[in-house]
Amino acid sequence: MASTSISVNPRRSYNHFTKDGGASFNENRLCSFTFQSGLLGSKIPMEKLSLSVNGTRPTRPEPIRFSGSESMKASSRSFDVVIVGAGIIGLTIARQFLTKSDLSVAVVDKAVPCSGATGAGQGYIWMVHKNPASDTWELTKRSHQLWKKLAETIRDQGMDSLQVLGWKKTGSLLVGRTPEDSVMLRKKVSQLSEAGLRAEYLSSDELHSKEPSIYVGTDGGAAFAPEDCQLDAHLAVSYIEKVNRSFAPKGRYAEFYHEPVTGLVRSTSSGEYEAVRTSNNTLYGKAIIVAAGCWSRSLMHDLLKDSNVKFDALVMPRKGHLLVIENFNPLQLNHGSMEVGYIDYQNAAFTSGQNDQSQALSVSMTSTIDTMGNLVLGSSRQFAGFSTEVDDSIVLHIWKRAGEFFPKLKELPLTDFVNNRKVRVGLRPYMPDGKPVIGPVPGLSNLFFATGHEGGGLSMALGTAEMVVDMVLGNPTYIDNSPFAAKGRCC
Ligand SMILES: Cc1cc2nc3c(=O)[nH]c(=O)nc-3n(C[C@H](O)[C@H](O)[C@H](O)COP(=O)(O)OP(=O)(O)OC[C@H]3O[C@@H](n4cnc5c(N)ncnc54)[C@H](O)[C@@H]3O)c2cc1C
Repeated sequence: MASTSISVNPRRSYNHFTKDGGASFNENRLCSFTFQSGLLGSKIPMEKLSLSVNGTRPTRPEPIRFSGSESMKASSRSFDVVIVGAGIIGLTIARQFLTKSDLSVAVVDKAVPCSGATGAGQGYIWMVHKNPASDTWELTKRSHQLWKKLAETIRDQGMDSLQVLGWKKTGSLLVGRTPEDSVMLRKKVSQLSEAGLRAEYLSSDELHSKEPSIYVGTDGGAAFAPEDCQLDAHLAVSYIEKVNRSFAPKGRYAEFYHEPVTGLVRSTSSGEYEAVRTSNNTLYGKAIIVAAGCWSRSLMHDLLKDSNVKFDALVMPRKGHLLVIENFNPLQLNHGSMEVGYIDYQNAAFTSGQNDQSQALSVSMTSTIDTMGNLVLGSSRQFAGFSTEVDDSIVLHIWKRAGEFFPKLKELPLTDFVNNRKVRVGLRPYMPDGKPVIGPVPGLSNLFFATGHEGGGLSMALGTAEMVVDMVLGNPTYIDNSPFAAKGRCC
């Protein structure tokens, strides 16, 4: 396949994009910034600054061009990288570019960060339910290493990772209640152990002494992964935004929230897509990364409709409810837990033509206690379009399912918690083959895609960000990126 490269010239000034040398945002969270090229005065060697596709290094920098029909508007801005989507995936990619290169980054979102799936995330950063033979194993493992490293760095800087990220090493329990479940859990433990993970099988009695509130009957048991951790999605997002914004005064970062992306601008000379058009701005970028979660398919469809590029990422919304009960004292949990059935539900495929709601709906028990001491219970899965409306019958279903594992909850009607309960609903970006798409859009050298993480986006975010940035810079990736390529899956 022919490959093209885009190179960033570190000596080029982009001052012509911002005639007054500055730009203000009406976003009250990030008041103003002065835009200068992040490439000026770069301490990073030219090689690092190259944006390269397919590992091909550019021989000569490509000049920046604007398409003939696109007149320069006051609202045009230029960056090295433009990221569409400010969920956990888009924001962590931005952070990775900012901290690991000298490139300037814009993040654009139709709303605000936690408005997508990220805001509903329970926050488990777990390996216990993962399959070492799956394509996502290495990515997840790498990502967890990076989260752990980040939590350590935060501690080394004198901050409390619990306060900053909601980071807790609770360990996780994958629990089952039948003899068949126990056989499966024993097998799981040996698979995890063979793959180098600390894991042990707990009989019903051993489980009871570790987590007295759980009841799995005499035939049940659990797989216990003591190294598994959890974070708070909202805290983690705030922290990452703070890191990203610290680059704004240096002119390397800007965010454009409440600005839906509505189009792409194509260079008439090179044919490359060189900018995204939003409701208010035209944002030029040498690399454009689409990380728009479950909206990515329709967005790409709209963006590419006038081109001859055939790209159809099959990502679709998989709705999930999460129940949070504030200041919940009746149940004390030492660990996070998940019922073993979760794995089958997560892997269950979408059947086209499926229109029976009850058939499409699955609920499996997940439980954690968050930083504030709230009980967080999950979760449901269903294919129900893009609606994020709360369905009270599903909330009740989650409560009842949790009661199957935590008998204490059976004594408490959910109606007792009307005033201190919150329901979070999010649309997981589901890919039918169970793994995200990470990499360039075939045939378009500077347009990248990073989505489809379904129920593991928080978990896989840092590994994904590292992979995307390495791909854009033309560096070798830490783990094999080929299972995540769009080629052969989306076109
Ligand atoms: C109930 C529930 C529990 C979960 N629990 C966990 C968990 O414990 N651990 C875990 O690892 N994962 C969990 N997940 C999954 C995780 O939340 C997702 O995989 C992850 O948040 C996906 O992140 P994202 O950035 O791809 O998508 P999103 O967070 O959805 O972000 C996409 C962004 O793109 C923006 N966007 C869309 N269209 C446009 C446009 N045209 N222009 C500009 N911006 C646009 C949206 O506004 C949105 O902000 C859970 C999910 C749910 C629903």
